[in-house]
Amino acid sequence: MTILPVIPISPDQPDAVQTRRRPSMPPRHLADLDLAARRAAVTELGEPAFRAKQLSTHYFGRLVRDIDEMTDLPAASRARLTDDLLPTLLTPMRELACDDGATRKTLWRLHDGALVESVLMGYPDRVTACVSSQAGCGMACPFCATGQQGLTRNLSIAEIVDQVVYLAGVAASGAVTGSPPRLSRVVFMGMGEPLANYPRVLAAVRRLTAPAPEGLGLSQRHITVSTVGLVPAMRRLIAEQLNVTLALSLHAPDDDLRDELVPVNQRWKVAEVLDAAFDYAAQSGRRISIEYALIRDVNDQPWRADLLGKLLRGKLAHVNLIPLNPTPGSKWDASPKPVEREFVHRLRAAGVATTVRDTRGREIDGACGQLAAGELSEASAGGAADAEVAQ
Ligand code: SAH
Repeated sequence: MTILPVIPISPDQPDAVQTRRRPSMPPRHLADLDLAARRAAVTELGEPAFRAKQLSTHYFGRLVRDIDEMTDLPAASRARLTDDLLPTLLTPMRELACDDGATRKTLWRLHDGALVESVLMGYPDRVTACVSSQAGCGMACPFCATGQQGLTRNLSIAEIVDQVVYLAGVAASGAVTGSPPRLSRVVFMGMGEPLANYPRVLAAVRRLTAPAPEGLGLSQRHITVSTVGLVPAMRRLIAEQLNVTLALSLHAPDDDLRDELVPVNQRWKVAEVLDAAFDYAAQSGRRISIEYALIRDVNDQPWRADLLGKLLRGKLAHVNLIPLNPTPGSKWDASPKPVEREFVHRLRAAGVATTVRDTRGREIDGACGQLAAGELSEASAGGAADAEVAQ
């Protein structure tokens, strides 16, 4: 039996109680359940079983998240179903756009007041959603804004999926100029450590990749899970035999520095974490992506490029260099361009495929400093018009 702590509530401070709710998991939502469980849930609510498919077709097939827009449902059914299967999980607080509307960031408030972000990035050939898997993060990487906040809580399956369904709806509305209307990729590079919320992230991946109306019908290959390197969870992921792409946030090729930049390295060392990543590549047949935020005079020395090259040479891996996005008050800065070029040159000379991530969305990163654009590209930053589109 678990005994829950009793939280004293002062009757003198009703406002404080209201505004500082305790973190808690949200109510159940359609996207938490597979199709069979949705059928069971609707019958329990006194509705015919076919409603499960009807709701699913609206939500996953047509990207309709508001039950009032599901006009083929009788009003009485809508009233019955909304609380139990389509509660509002995400309330938009702010929406920001830049890169001439090709990048859009949404700040969400969750039911308990926690805040998370998602980003939609449009390219000429694809649209990518960058989503959060936790509110805050417990990994404490010192250069990352979310890492400074600590962990508030895990997101539920549906809180993850609903970010994607919302962004797919934005893309479908044609709002991402110059891009196809169908969202095709998802990267778990928003807030949080996805592998620290393993069962829910995995279930979210399954829901995103199940064919409609059970899920969103995305290809596993077009989903990237990014991790600091939680080795047991990486091993578990290998055993799932999925085709999702794995990104490993390495940031240093030596334990001395990685112990500081990615504190979880004190537990699982560079050699061990790379071993797990290479095993993932061997199982999935998919190249792993090594993320490396270049930080001026910290991890950008030529000898570190050479060491990284040595570790990755001949492996099914490529390096994705990220110019550091300095967080407010940080002592660190991005590396100068000539230093970055030398780093790239040395890695390529060692035979390691290397790209520099574009700085997409940098202008609207301010509040978080973390949601670097999730796709590798050597494209330049593009237009920098920074427009607030909604409050
Ligand atoms: N926790 C996961 C996923 C979230 S972060 C992970 O660490 O992989 C996605 C990527 O952005 C990670 O590679 C992370 O190290 C990087 N990142 C975080 N803060 C950054 C910053 N200020 N500048 C550049 N990249 C950053």
